[in-house]
Amino acid sequence: MNEKNNTILLNNGVTMPTLGLGVFKIGDGKPVKDVVSYALKNGYRAIDTASVYGNEKGVGEGIRDSGVKRENIFVTSKVFTHEMGYQETLEAYNRSLDKLQLSYLDLYLVHWPKEGKYLETYRALVDLYKDGKVKAIGVSNFQISHLKALMENFDVLPSVNQIELHPLLQQLELRNFCTLNNIATIAWSPLMKGALDIPLLKEIGKKYAKSAAQVTLRWHLQNNIIVIPKSVHFSYIKENADIFDFMLSEEEMEKIASLNQDKRFGPDPDNFDF
Ligand code: NDP
Repeated sequence: MNEKNNTILLNNGVTMPTLGLGVFKIGDGKPVKDVVSYALKNGYRAIDTASVYGNEKGVGEGIRDSGVKRENIFVTSKVFTHEMGYQETLEAYNRSLDKLQLSYLDLYLVHWPKEGKYLETYRALVDLYKDGKVKAIGVSNFQISHLKALMENFDVLPSVNQIELHPLLQQLELRNFCTLNNIATIAWSPLMKGALDIPLLKEIGKKYAKSAAQVTLRWHLQNNIIVIPKSVHFSYIKENADIFDFMLSEEEMEKIASLNQDKRFGPDPDNFDF
């Protein structure tokens, strides 16, 4: 993996890798330990987990097993809806650190904008940040209305918004709002959960000897989007990192943009019940 040009500067001056490994639905213990260790040994420098994934312990083991120094790894976790509230969030943060066996996180996110809870939860994140306990804070699955509420209530803006984003769900209005307000966008399910059997992506890939997955990830990067593809297969983990040695043309970028169907694979942030 080419290490050049693969970071983004967040709004608080912290540098974040544009590629990370997502570990949703990877079992705790050896399964997640092995993929995290493999990814870090093969050039990845960021890991995206969450308390609700139930695998923070194994993620921490994978980090230590990799031999890569802690300060060179960007670790993200998230506070889930059943943990939200001011005091509850401070406790959830400590629980995550304890499971990961780390002394700090690089990025801590409010996982979902639970009504009646997300403002107090974000208040706890601001205090964790101001106390120097976390390098950067952000949110996930926030719509423009939720982001505006944060702007009205806090002097620290989120550094990132992690949202479902891929060629079939392009979220242009939300992305533009974030760009205008200097909030970086992270794409979750960047590979449409593996639904990559799309002729256009395969056709473009042929020109560069790249797969549909690599073309998709490259499209995100050229839109200034951070990607966190998940895989349990070493071959895919390696393939997904081999995206820094080719460039899609403007025409190809536009063709991929035309695939949008506003199709969600995950829950709708305006209508979820957990
Ligand atoms: P992805 O879009 O990353 O897709 C993962 C699927 O694609 C898996 O089935 C995987 O297969 C397959 N895959 C991976 N690489 C390739 C490849 N090169 N070729 C073909 N198939 C491939 O989906 P996720 O939903 O996992 O999203 C990624 C990450 O985003 C999560 O792991 C998590 O960290 C985060 N996330 C955050 C959410 C939030 O609310 N903030 C919600 C959902 C996800 P296999 O594993 O079998 O190798």
